[in-house]
Amino acid sequence: MQFRTLDTALTVHQESNNHKLGFVAFKKFGSAATEPRDFRGISHLCEHLVCRAWDDMDDELTRRGVSHNAGTGDVSVQYFFQGLDAHIDEVTDKLLLREGPRNILNWVPSEAEFERERKVVIQEYEGYMSKPFNAMYVNLGRRYFDFDTAIGDIEVLQAMTYDKFIPFFLEQRSFDAFMRVGSSERSQSVLADFVAADPTPRQFLESTRPYMALVDTNRPVEFRSKSNGEVVIGDWLCFDDSVAPWEIAMITELFDAGVKSPLIDVLRVQHGLSYAAGMFRVGAPVPAAMSFVTVNPDNVDKARSLLHCVYTDWEKHITPERFATAVAGVRVQNQLKEASNYQWHNAGQAISAPLVNVTNALLDTFTYERVCSILSKFFVKENIRRAQVGEFLEI
Ligand SMILES: [Zn+2]
Repeated sequence: MQFRTLDTALTVHQESNNHKLGFVAFKKFGSAATEPRDFRGISHLCEHLVCRAWDDMDDELTRRGVSHNAGTGDVSVQYFFQGLDAHIDEVTDKLLLREGPRNILNWVPSEAEFERERKVVIQEYEGYMSKPFNAMYVNLGRRYFDFDTAIGDIEVLQAMTYDKFIPFFLEQRSFDAFMRVGSSERSQSVLADFVAADPTPRQFLESTRPYMALVDTNRPVEFRSKSNGEVVIGDWLCFDDSVAPWEIAMITELFDAGVKSPLIDVLRVQHGLSYAAGMFRVGAPVPAAMSFVTVNPDNVDKARSLLHCVYTDWEKHITPERFATAVAGVRVQNQLKEASNYQWHNAGQAISAPLVNVTNALLDTFTYERVCSILSKFFVKENIRRAQVGEFLEI
């Protein structure tokens, strides 16, 4: 740690860059988007059970200050360990090279472990679906794409047996990608490359579940949450392969970033209807952006029509100035990441969440005209799939 005295007599400290952070991750392609009908939610159960392989190392990991976690996404499942370089080396050796059944590549859980973890995952499902936003997200997937998301189908989880589970588990345990990075190699791009090693969700889905286009299933949806004080409404705004994932990320940035974002500006600042509003990218089952707004039940209709205006009157909100502001903000965020090793401190988060790296080089190719052509093509009625918790509506 270095200290420096500014002219103003304020003393600030500068942290050393030499964190010697190590990181190791395992990744399996194939998850919620590739699960057969009677295995929906089982990739997530597999994730829980793979993590039982290093149960016997818990004290050691704590003693070494190694943090670890795992995440099941729509198209892949990831496991990671983070800590000081030297400790990560030894932990990695143990995970991969030790003799016997607890080597991560040999591990098979017992029936008792399976039953215990199945209950945990069912409980996780109940908690997840009790949150309005999550329920809306899951119901959109079910209703329009016959897609259950990583949380799966409660009936599948309840009916799953050990014998049926094990072949699926063995397939899930054969990792497709492995990354070990030490502080000497530390750079944003190494992590970004690993995360980006996913086939793009669209290509992936076409090769595995070609029927996962818009299907309008009429499948009954499940509403676990009916809070009286707040309703969540939102939409999936669907794109196609002609729009790159990073471009979708930038579109959401245009609608979402800052208090002057169109969603916050219209719903909260101008009309005082909402506390939280935003938009983010969804990678599967189709390339899409998801908007959300929380409102009082009495204000649902009003918020709905305002939301619709934000999409259809996008030219009013997404001005060249707005475009320039959002792009400039992302450029600076990129500089901040490089300067502070931000991405390494948040590596776990980055690896478990679908992350799209909007580099400054990509931004150099991004123009306001491109934004206009994307929005005028896709921000139209046919591409909007509407949802709310407590009731399910279509346009
Ligand atoms: Zn879980």
